[in-house]
Amino acid sequence: MFTELKKIVMPIGVSGDESGVSAVIAAEIAPYVDKVYNDALGNLIAFKKGKGKKPKKLMFAAHMDEIGFMASFIDEKGFIRVSRLGGINYTAAAFTEVIFKNGTKGVLVPEARITQRDYRPENYYVDIGAKSRKDAMRRVKIGDTCHVAPNLFKLSGSRVAGRPIDDRIGCMMLVEAAKAVKEYENDTYFVFTVQEEVGVRGAKTSAFSITPDYAVAVDIGGAGDMPSCAPLAVNLGDGIAIKLKDAMVICNPVMVGMMKEIAADRGVPYQLEILEGGGTDTCMLQQAAGGCIAGALSVPTRYGHSAVEVIDMNDVAGGIRILAGLCETKLN
Ligand SMILES: [Zn+2]
Repeated sequence: MFTELKKIVMPIGVSGDESGVSAVIAAEIAPYVDKVYNDALGNLIAFKKGKGKKPKKLMFAAHMDEIGFMASFIDEKGFIRVSRLGGINYTAAAFTEVIFKNGTKGVLVPEARITQRDYRPENYYVDIGAKSRKDAMRRVKIGDTCHVAPNLFKLSGSRVAGRPIDDRIGCMMLVEAAKAVKEYENDTYFVFTVQEEVGVRGAKTSAFSITPDYAVAVDIGGAGDMPSCAPLAVNLGDGIAIKLKDAMVICNPVMVGMMKEIAADRGVPYQLEILEGGGTDTCMLQQAAGGCIAGALSVPTRYGHSAVEVIDMNDVAGGIRILAGLCETKLN
């Protein structure tokens, strides 16, 4: 699974410009579904017909986009100011290597006079090594996007680290679930959404057009087992987390119950997640059109939105089995 994940982690796909990663995922999932297409906003939708006369519509969503930056101003010395795309952790983003879509590399740094306590978006700039504005503009134009360099490497045992694991891990889980399903009971839509990091926008339009009966978002979640972190009953390696609530959603008890049951039947360990903050595509799936029965799976993750997000691949494997189980369960 590490190799499969790395393939999906490496392409750039900051919010609003996900075409690169979309092409990679489309090629991966196409052999396992009936149809693959992009909608007007850029969401990638892979459809597999269910058996029987009037199968229910089941939708999965994982977001393809990653947090990043857009060049907004280039000063006379060639230093580039950037506008943020998504919830940037500026402490984690300080002194990192960034890469523009055309391959130009730079370093993202705070102004020298700024102390760590005062890290703010407006105090950051990208240094691509240019000698002047003219020199910089040969390689970077206003509106060009960049991201913190992608990376994926193995830690001890089944743990891996890197970025953007949020939410390429969810994308990989959808692809792997599509490969694993034996027989589809429901009309199933694997949706790789855009612009989640800037306000769950892709989930809104895709769910509105699909109008699913049941929906599950897969994204990273929290972990509560690091030194002096906030209390959270989720540990890395103790199983995939079935979400109960976060700041933007209360998951439907029917979906929560169904996922628990599939996990129990198939011997998949799971945990229950309650996050005080944050939100995922789930909130939009739940509210699309007339609403649907929605839930979410969260991959327990340490250090989200940093260059060293850490997960346990055993949790991921369990999550894939629950997703495949939902596809094989006749929904009414
Ligand atoms: Zn995410």
